[in-house]
Amino acid sequence: MPTPQDRATDWNAVSDDDFRQAIADFIATRVPPGLRHLNRRPRWAEVRDWYMTLSRNGWLVPGWPVEWGGKGLSPSKMLVYVEELERGGAPRVMDQGLMNLGPVLIARGSDEQRRRFLPKIISGEHLWCQGYSEPNAGSDLASLRTEARLEGDEFIVNGQKIWTSVAFDANHMFALVRTDKTVKKQAGISFLLIDMRQPGVTVRPIRNIAGHEELCEVFLDNVRTPRTNLVGALNDGWQIAKTLLGFERIWSGSPRQSTIALIRLERLAQATGKMNDPVFAARFDRLAMDVLDGASAYERFAQIMRTGGSFGSEVSVLKIWATETCQRVTELMVEAADDLGTLTGEVPIDDETMDILYPFLDCRAFTIYGGSSQVQRNILAKSVLALPA
Ligand SMILES: Cc1cc2nc3c(=O)[nH]c(=O)nc-3n(C[C@H](O)[C@H](O)[C@H](O)COP(=O)(O)OP(=O)(O)OC[C@H]3O[C@@H](n4cnc5c(N)ncnc54)[C@H](O)[C@@H]3O)c2cc1C
Repeated sequence: MPTPQDRATDWNAVSDDDFRQAIADFIATRVPPGLRHLNRRPRWAEVRDWYMTLSRNGWLVPGWPVEWGGKGLSPSKMLVYVEELERGGAPRVMDQGLMNLGPVLIARGSDEQRRRFLPKIISGEHLWCQGYSEPNAGSDLASLRTEARLEGDEFIVNGQKIWTSVAFDANHMFALVRTDKTVKKQAGISFLLIDMRQPGVTVRPIRNIAGHEELCEVFLDNVRTPRTNLVGALNDGWQIAKTLLGFERIWSGSPRQSTIALIRLERLAQATGKMNDPVFAARFDRLAMDVLDGASAYERFAQIMRTGGSFGSEVSVLKIWATETCQRVTELMVEAADDLGTLTGEVPIDDETMDILYPFLDCRAFTIYGGSSQVQRNILAKSVLALPA
């Protein structure tokens, strides 16, 4: 069996089982032990070494084409790769450049932009954040107001972004900005690349419900960026942003998080004796079946992907089911822990400790980002069920 360090291997030609084993072994031996299964998003300083390990071994961007430093991995192999990263508890790295901007530049950027930016994502020199959402422009993203005005060869950008994940560790932002106010709102948006290491960029962290700082506000005050940092045509940003849809649509519906939450709930319920209560056990069984239902729906979509097929808006059902099931499981966990469920941090359960509250708080965000549950339901109603708007 080839090893992950073997650069000549065509991994698409390797069986899924062998590929899965190779990635699992790599993660088992190379992820620093202190960074496994973190219940928070680590800072760049903590994950830099792991990022560079992936980069040196060619596993940072395996889905990118070979000519741009990737392995040209098929979507179905990418699914296995991401599943194994998660199963092995690999920490999340700064991934906006890897998952979002890189694929956008490959698909829609100019050759000059690819040459200028892609190698610096792989080397860890450029760390990107995603500047889309604004106050009053989240689900209704096209209402965004951050403005970019062309002056000679430069854009001058003014406005505010919000909920920008890990912006405090980023040195670059890809942003949607308004470049024409006179047309239909989707038609006046452009996709700009901004160097954050300049006066006029202010990043303020926002503390989340679990007490962690991961999200930020970013203020842009007469910030400059060269015209050559415009991706695609002027006012074509909405179409560029839509390029990103695809892989995330299935991954955001993965049953992994609710499966992990269910395992923890079972452990807790057994340790506390709750499982002996038939009413509790019936509620647990019902949730267990919900998790299995989600897993089989996910498997159905994954199978379509594996066989090179495509799917439409019906994939929205996965995200709704996976994220809402995860929330229900963590709610029962808090309930099952009685008084301990109200405490933050690790609490003693039988002869071990468990963090009960964090998973409950953490998964509140799952039904908001990447298209909220309500928005996904609107998509299903309109595109799949053809209900009246
Ligand atoms: C953990 C996390 C990380 C994030 N990271 C980033 C990031 O890196 N970059 C970035 O740009 N953004 C990021 N976001 C922002 C995210 O994209 C927005 O939160 C999301 O689009 C929702 O927008 P909003 O918060 O403005 O809520 P709103 O759009 O104001 O929604 C508020 C409520 O109204 C409901 N609603 C809205 N419109 C409709 C409708 N038409 N029909 C029915 N119900 C509706 C929503 O479902 C929601 O319940 C992140 C968010 C979270 C939680």
